Amino acid sequence: MDNTPVDNKPKVVWLDGEFVPWAQAQIHVMTNTMHYGTGVFEGIRCYATAQGPAIFRFPEHLKRLRNSGKVVGFSAPFDDDTLTDATKQLIIRNNLEECYIRPLVFIGDDSFGVNWLGNPIRVALVVFPWGAYLGEDGIKNGVRVKVSSFTRHHVNINMTKAKVVGNYVNSQLAKLDAVKDGYHEALMSDVDGYVVEGSGENIFIVEDGHLVTPPPGSILPGITRSTIMDLAREEGLKIREDRLTRDRIYTADEMFFTGTAAEVTPIREVDRREIGEGGAGPITKKLQKRYFDLVKGRDEKHLEWLDFVTVSGLTSATSTSRSPSAARSCS
Ligand code: PMP
Repeated sequence: MDNTPVDNKPKVVWLDGEFVPWAQAQIHVMTNTMHYGTGVFEGIRCYATAQGPAIFRFPEHLKRLRNSGKVVGFSAPFDDDTLTDATKQLIIRNNLEECYIRPLVFIGDDSFGVNWLGNPIRVALVVFPWGAYLGEDGIKNGVRVKVSSFTRHHVNINMTKAKVVGNYVNSQLAKLDAVKDGYHEALMSDVDGYVVEGSGENIFIVEDGHLVTPPPGSILPGITRSTIMDLAREEGLKIREDRLTRDRIYTADEMFFTGTAAEVTPIREVDRREIGEGGAGPITKKLQKRYFDLVKGRDEKHLEWLDFVTVSGLTSATSTSRSPSAARSCS
């Protein structure tokens, strides 16, 4: 389930450079991000492999986190090595083999108002177990989705390359509307009416044996999307980045979501129309298997995308090493 309560709460959370017990990882109600939505975050997965836990494409996620900060105008007051080290320590301290990793960079509570300059930039890292985002059955048999009446962000309103907290109000409007109507997920269209992505996933269709995915524009350029494009090329499949109309989707042979949370989830129905044979199609299944083999360390070819969590690989300076760009930026 995608709204699973964190019932398996991790013992330790990392907040502003310190490891603190779960119950102490708290913020004030006047935290600026809570009021105005300017904060940036990432969603990353760590998988159990034969060689221990491994974080998938961690540097790429940290790079996107930094770029998201750049778009909204701030930088995290910790460098990537510190965040990497702290995340690995959290996984070890919480005894986790597999988990979801949530870094959140947010604006503090030193001042109030839309102008946040002078307010400290704060960072939290939380790791917790999280199963299949759209359900195990969804992974196997596909999910049912509807095209939302809520339009995706325009590139010059809420910029879409950044994973900004406030951007997800739009996702939540679409997602909840779909769920309340009995669907698993929403598909969202851009201002021109082309279907571009899910509320938290990228989309692919299969058309005459080729893959088609919407071009960068009003989508979040997903790291899973890029991974699947690489794997598809290795499988000899042609990929086109092209705009997808609603009827093109209805008549696709196969369709699937990609995302760190959703992994590779087949889409079996859109707006009550069966896609292809109405389950996971052969190309979707092939790419899904390649993806799971890869993230679980069974594919020798791409071990470079796995960051193994080993005690020996850790430094001891995690709680103190700040980057030169101090905790207050842009002040
Ligand atoms: N689009 C949106 C809006 C998302 O929130 C996500 C999840 N981060 C994705 C696409 C997929 O991105 P990724 O594969 O990097 O997780």
